Formats: sequence, C-alpha cells, structure tokens
Amino acid sequence: MGVTRDDEPWRWPDEVWRAHLDRVRAGRSLKPAAWPGGARVAVALSFDSDHETIPLRDGQTSPGQLAQGEYGARAGVPRILRLLERHGVPATFFMPAVSALAHPAEVRAYADAGHEVAAHGWIHERTTTLPANAERDLAARALDTLERLCGVRPVGIRTPSWDFSPDTLDIVRDLGLRYDSSLMADDDPYEILADGTPTGVVEIPVEWIRDDAPYFVMDRFGSARPYAMPRDVLKIWRDEFDGARAEGGLFQLTLHPHVIGHRSRMPIIDELLTHIRSHADVWYATHAQVAEYVRNS
Ligand SMILES: [Zn+2]
Repeated sequence: MGVTRDDEPWRWPDEVWRAHLDRVRAGRSLKPAAWPGGARVAVALSFDSDHETIPLRDGQTSPGQLAQGEYGARAGVPRILRLLERHGVPATFFMPAVSALAHPAEVRAYADAGHEVAAHGWIHERTTTLPANAERDLAARALDTLERLCGVRPVGIRTPSWDFSPDTLDIVRDLGLRYDSSLMADDDPYEILADGTPTGVVEIPVEWIRDDAPYFVMDRFGSARPYAMPRDVLKIWRDEFDGARAEGGLFQLTLHPHVIGHRSRMPIIDELLTHIRSHADVWYATHAQVAEYVRNS
C-alpha cells in the first residue's frame, strides 16, 4: 500500500500512526520463571526447508537456479537429520507446501524422527503482496497439504521470509494455529496483541542475527556478496546461546538446509550443539513445545 502525497506519514494525526502500531503488537512476556525440569535455558532449533521454492516463487525456473535449492533436500537434509539424531536434539521444520509436495518422503522422515513439521506458506510467496483472501486460501491449503503428507496437522506457522502482513494475524487465529514464529519484538516468547487485545497466540520470536541466510547467501547477479566465515558465525550464535542462558530465556535458531547443509558449514552446528550440551541445564524443544509450555506456565 503506497503513500500518496496527501497521506505523507509526517501529516498523519496521532490516531493514524497509533493504529498502525497497535494492529499487531507484542503483549505480555511469556518468558517463564523456569523451564521444564528446572532448566535455565530453552533451545529451539528450526530449519526452513525451502529448497526450490525460493526461485520458484519469483518465477525463476532455470534448472541452474532450481538445482541450488534441490541441494537442500538432496545433500543438506540427510546431514541435518543425522546430526540431530547424533545429538538427540529435536527441531522444527517449517516447509512450504510446494516443497513438501516435491519431497514427500522428506516430510514423513521429519515426523517419523519425532521432529515438528510446521507451515511456511504455499510456494514461499511474498505474503505482503497478496490480497487477504489469497493469503488465507494459501495458508489453509498449506496446512491441509502438510497434514496429508506427514499425518500431523501443524499447530504453528512461519510466514515465508518472515513477511507478516496486516492480515496474517487474523488468518493465524481463524485457522486455529497456536503460535507464529515470524516476528522480532523480543528475544523471548510473548503473546501477540491485535489492536491492543490479547489473542492467546504465542510468538516464538526470530532474528536475522540467528539466521544463516544473511551471513552466507550470495546473489550471483547482485553486487552485494555477503560472505562470512562459518566459525565467525558460530561465535555469534554461541554468544546468543550464552546470553539466553544467562537471562534464563530462549535460544532460537533459524537455518536452511540449502544454506547450512554444506560440508564447510555443518561443522559449526555440530560445535554449537556440543557447546550447548556441555551445560546440563538446557531444555531442548520444538517450537510447538515451547509455545505450549509458555502458554500454560
Ligand atoms: Zn523460508
């Protein structure tokens, strides 16, 4: 929605900008006094299994582009599942419906291994570009598709690219979802307010700091080529975990199989989990388990 010359934000009366702020807002903190088993910190790992849907949603259908996404399913996911099994750590896999339809055995493997499968759009669409009825239809179809493929109906959603529209919260509530994981108003879980009213929907907040994509993804035709040394990124994430533990909060991480699943990058997840497991007071949980616990604590 563009801003016309007569509607410049500097002309807005207070009620206009306030209404924008209040549409979707962070409510009470749901950081618990203690985590299950007396743990000091909760760890919730997530993997967004986007695979080929990133180029597909932009209509980029060249085999070269698609192969980069296919790598996530073919090479990345098996490594990730082996690593999680070796460390005995659960994770949440957010998967676009088209990605799940293209890789049905993978969705079942997540559920069979005890991981959570959650919604991540239809084709990784850009949510804020959609009319509300299309966003709603795609979200509903995505839930039905994931349930059909893995046998469990998702209880949570992560909007593709964390692109949360003014309609998303209504859709999340109408579809009966328990939590969202797309917003960034806190480090720890909180209840989402809609126009100032508590919704009961739990936010499991995310951050680009705790996401592999900004450090490692390169656009071959763009001039910006962010590239970080994996072990420098490990230091950031270890500090995020140490900080979460010091504050008795949540350490949440967002990874992508096609980004992190490489031979030079997977070792930092191994080292990160080894560091986390050197502490006895950690509760490992899926995003759904965190949402359920904080709602009831
Ligand atoms: Zn994604």
